[in-house]
Parts: sequence; C-alpha cells; structure tokens
Amino acid sequence: YKINMAELELREELGKGQYGVVQKVFHKPTKVIMAMKEIRLELDTGKLSQILMELDVLHKSHSPYIVEFYGAFFIESCVYYCMEYMDAGSLDRLIPYKNGVPEDVLSRIAFSIVSGLRFLKDELKIIHRDVKPTNVLANSKGEIKLCDFGVSGQLIQSLAKTNIGCQSYMAPERIAMSDNAAYSVASDVWSLGISCLEVGSGKYPYPANRYDSIFAQLNAIVHETPPDLPHDRFGPEAIDFVRQCLQKDAKARPTYAELIVHPFILKYQDHADEIDMAGWVQGALEWRQAHADELHQLKNGGGGTGA
Ligand code: ATP
Ligand code: MG
Repeated sequence: YKINMAELELREELGKGQYGVVQKVFHKPTKVIMAMKEIRLELDTGKLSQILMELDVLHKSHSPYIVEFYGAFFIESCVYYCMEYMDAGSLDRLIPYKNGVPEDVLSRIAFSIVSGLRFLKDELKIIHRDVKPTNVLANSKGEIKLCDFGVSGQLIQSLAKTNIGCQSYMAPERIAMSDNAAYSVASDVWSLGISCLEVGSGKYPYPANRYDSIFAQLNAIVHETPPDLPHDRFGPEAIDFVRQCLQKDAKARPTYAELIVHPFILKYQDHADEIDMAGWVQGALEWRQAHADELHQLKNGGGGTGA
C-alpha cells in the first residue's frame, strides 16, 4: 500500500528543520493523523526512487521505542516522509524552561532511547547518526520514541552534503575526522550522553554564545572535560551514566547491552509503572502553555543559545 499526497488533508505546521517543515496531516482513507516531514533535496528520479526503496524496510520493523513509519513518496525533488504523530512533540520542547527533568523521568527517557538505538542496531543493522532532543518524541501516553534515524544510505549521502547546525551533538572523533568514516555505534552513545545532559539539566552544555566561533565551540567539545549533570539534583548513578557515554575515547564508551543494565536504568526499572510519564508530559505541556509568551520572546529576542 502506498500513500500519496491526494489522500492527505494538511493541518497545522508542527515544526521546521534544516531541510523543510513537518506538518500534521490527516490520511483520509485510514482516518489516521500523521506527521509528514518534507525533505528538500535536489536529486534525480533514480536517486529519489532508491531512497523510497531503502525506506521500505521500515514497513516490517516495529518497536515501541521507534516512531512508526507509514510511507513515503516524492513530488518533484522533495521527499515526503509520513510517520506516527507524536502529540507532545520533541523533548527540547518539554524541558520546563530550563531546569530539566527529574531523575526518575530522565532514567525512563534514557531507557527508551537506549532501547530504540539497540533495536535499530540489532534488527535493522543501522546506526542512528542524529541522536538529539529534537529527534526524541513524546506523546500524551508518556511514550518516548526515536525518529530521523539513518535508514537510507542514499538519503544519508544526500543530506551529508549540506551543513551542520549550531548545536552539535557530534562525538569528538567525528568532529576531528570531519567525515562519516569515523562513524560507529559509539558516536551515537556520545550523542545520547549529550542529549541526557541537556534533558536532565535543561541546558545544552556547549552553548554557542559562550564561544567566539563555531571553531572554538567544536574545539571545546573535542578538548574540554564534558560537564556533569547537576550534583544537587542527580544521584551518582545518573552522573555516572552520562560520564560513561561522554568518554573522549570512543572505544571506552559502553555498548547498549551494558547501558541497559547500568545502575541508573536499573534503579527505576522495578518501579517503572509508578513513574507517571504521562503526568510528566501533561505537566510539561501545561507549563509551556502558561509560559508561551516568555518562550516566544526568548525565541525571537535572540540570546543565541539555540533551541
Ligand atoms: P534538524 O533539521 O537539525 O534535524 P529538527 O529535528 O528539529 O532539526 P525536523 O526533523 O525537521 O528538524 O523536525 C522539526 C520539528 O518537528 C521537530 O523539532 C519536532 O518538534 C517536530 N516533529 C518532528 N517529527 C514529529 C512527529 N512525528 N510528531 C510530532 N512532531 C514532530
Ligand atoms: Mg528531526
């Protein structure tokens, strides 16, 4: 079954990325609300068809920690990717400004991300390549799922030609090599560490406004000791989890099998049902609503801290 534009009713815009907008859409034949991501590329029909073919494996892969794929199509040189709509959006929008999330919630988020990354590696033999808070989505049921993983080789190649953003989640070895040759699972583990740090503390640890240039910022990632989670709000298990992920030596970083049984994950595993993830999502959304004006000003008034 193939989705096409004629079957979709466009609703509001959900967000904007470097390659295009993400829109809420209603799929008329199935009555399913979806999120449609537009990826603007300048590719010939052969390459576009190859991307669709490579995305096809997603029809057979399902995990509670991966955003569901519904189908993709292209119009002219734009790829349209239809996926599960996550009604609470990405984690960057759920960090009540900007103190971060409580330890038990962070543990469950870390568990979901590790589970998702492990599924991608074991079932699909792929590495994510773009782990960051905007690519971790939540819904009002309190579920946490990954999106925007590198499943299509052709798509990875086509996107690589463009840019990097002002908030880098790239591991030191990738910055140093400045190409994809150095990319391995361990680089995703670094990005997981930076993401947990940001979600836990509420702050991206290398804010652009602290540095004179992007060069200085990237230099700090490669050479400085990465910061810890705040010691007043997080216990030794949480702090160690992030530290393990943020080791400069890629080979020293833990595997997913190791991370999934790390004391920070196990600490909340047995009482997972008692952690009210849905309630936390609800609370974060309400907080956002109540502070919409301030957030709007922060976003437009500059300050240059990024997300
Ligand atoms: P970048 O372009 O650097 O990867 P990004 O991840 O923010 O940044 P997009 O992937 O284009 O850019 O997504 C834009 C925004 O749309 C996200 O930040 C997220 O808030 C929202 N979004 C993406 N996918 C979904 C989805 N399936 N459901 C709900 N919201 C989504
Ligand atoms: Mg994204």
